[in-house]
Amino acid sequence: MATGTEEYARPAQPPDTSSLAGLRDAARECKACHLYKRATQTVFGEGPKDAAIMLVGEQPGDYEDQEGKPFVGPAGKIMDQALEEAGIDRKEVYVTNAVKHFKWEPRGKRRIHQKPNSREIAACRPWLEAELRLVKPKLLVCLGATAAQTVFGPSFRVTRERGKVLSSKLAPRTLATVHPSSLLRQPDEESRQREYKRFVVDLRAARRAASKE
Ligand code: SF4
Repeated sequence: MATGTEEYARPAQPPDTSSLAGLRDAARECKACHLYKRATQTVFGEGPKDAAIMLVGEQPGDYEDQEGKPFVGPAGKIMDQALEEAGIDRKEVYVTNAVKHFKWEPRGKRRIHQKPNSREIAACRPWLEAELRLVKPKLLVCLGATAAQTVFGPSFRVTRERGKVLSSKLAPRTLATVHPSSLLRQPDEESRQREYKRFVVDLRAARRAASKE
């Protein structure tokens, strides 16, 4: 029997609905893995149902956990800037994460991001599949290794495949690139600028792929 502190994960069971709001409401109550226990709230995807592009990241961060919205922290801000430079309107894309609760460990007063493990990712995957089923984007963009491996499997390497339009089980066209938080972790301004430009190049490729019939 599960105790309050025990870690567990089983596949989430989204309702059979054609309403994104209905999915979001159901996800608020999800307890399919233990991650809900330490998080403030479920951070579900956001954006128009007819979005041509869906962006999927790893998991909400500290800001997102508090706000209840995806990509509203520092990484989200740099992503917004890159999207604009690539000619993509953030309001027209659907933005979500592979895992919908913030996984963290305390360090002093800070909450430090922890990478979700494969069982947690698998437990949360039905929510992403349900979002994809309703939005049916022309292009799925995976931001970072966790999102890309959720879609393509554990052997996928973003460094090798970034910027390429590939087909996957979850979407007919999928492109992987880095997570915008990696830009914030660059050791100096020069490398941050270089990696930011590469990120914009990948997003431009995404815009072109999403505009094809
Ligand atoms: S992380 Fe996903 S599967 Fe786990 S409780 Fe949250 S919504 Fe449910």
